[in-house]
Amino acid sequence: MTSKKKIALYWCSSCGGCEESVLDLAEDILMVAEKADIVFWPIALDFKYKDVEALDDREIAVTLINGCIRMDEHEEKVRLLRKKSEVLMAHGSCAHLGGLYGLGNFFERQDLLDRSYKEVPTMNNPDGTLPQSQTMESGRELKLAGFQDRVRALNQVADVDYYIPGCPPTPELIKDAIVMTLEGRLPPKGSVLADTKALCDTCPRRDSRPEKLRIKAFKRLHQTVWDPARCFLDQGLICLGPATRGGCRGRCIQANMPCRGCFGPTDHVADQGAKSLSFLASMIDSTDEQELERIMDSIPDPAGLFYRYSLPTSMLKGKVSK
Ligand code: SF4
Ligand code: SF4
Repeated sequence: MTSKKKIALYWCSSCGGCEESVLDLAEDILMVAEKADIVFWPIALDFKYKDVEALDDREIAVTLINGCIRMDEHEEKVRLLRKKSEVLMAHGSCAHLGGLYGLGNFFERQDLLDRSYKEVPTMNNPDGTLPQSQTMESGRELKLAGFQDRVRALNQVADVDYYIPGCPPTPELIKDAIVMTLEGRLPPKGSVLADTKALCDTCPRRDSRPEKLRIKAFKRLHQTVWDPARCFLDQGLICLGPATRGGCRGRCIQANMPCRGCFGPTDHVADQGAKSLSFLASMIDSTDEQELERIMDSIPDPAGLFYRYSLPTSMLKGKVSK
């Protein structure tokens, strides 16, 4: 009988990028396999749910779950894995904050189904059939996981011990999280396993960011050639670095792309979108109402920009149901 600790990985509503980020551990995955047995990982290993059910409660040392909760099946499996795990980690911004799919909360469930299965130009569905949880086919009952009303983050369904931020997180953060668990040196429960300060603090362009920024119009990526060494905000391009937790090693900035906020808010900020809006508003160089309107109109999708990763866990939460 092996004395190695056990690890599990699971995905809920996920694009697969967080799973890729585990594969990006490359040879470090061998180090993980040396220290621990992976007992459940649907994308890579052929273990079944019944194998997890057969484990003792809290027998898994750590489970990493990525993706948001949208289907009944996700909720059910998360509850099972919570019961079987000593430590549960939200892996990636979808599990941490609701993530990109959380923007679906700006719409009602029925709107989403109608759009996907009836209205999109490429859909051929003359009877307007929508997915059902139960269907009779040739006298047999078929079951599909139910599509829930809202997107939820992992901690809105289960007790989460730690959060690995990012869309997706860096392999270094994932490795550190696993090693810290196996070596029993985790920080206090509830910690986000990345920097505590905002990205601007460690950004390679921070020295070019002026003390006081004055913005007359927001530009967009395709409108000019960006100076690869100068702060994006100083060039009039929206960068959410001031309202976003650091720890990503400035991957986007180094690729000459502004920060879009995937690491979520810092420890003392409750709502990343509100914080982003507030720091941008403080930089606008005008008091004229019409000009202010013109400047704000130069942001094409403010809600989508400011709440890109965090709508379900924000104060807004999404569209209020009728
Ligand atoms: S956090 Fe990003 S990479 Fe991970 S599942 Fe969500 S969308 Fe994909
Ligand atoms: S605003 Fe963006 S580019 Fe400027 S210092 Fe902060 S993270 Fe870097």
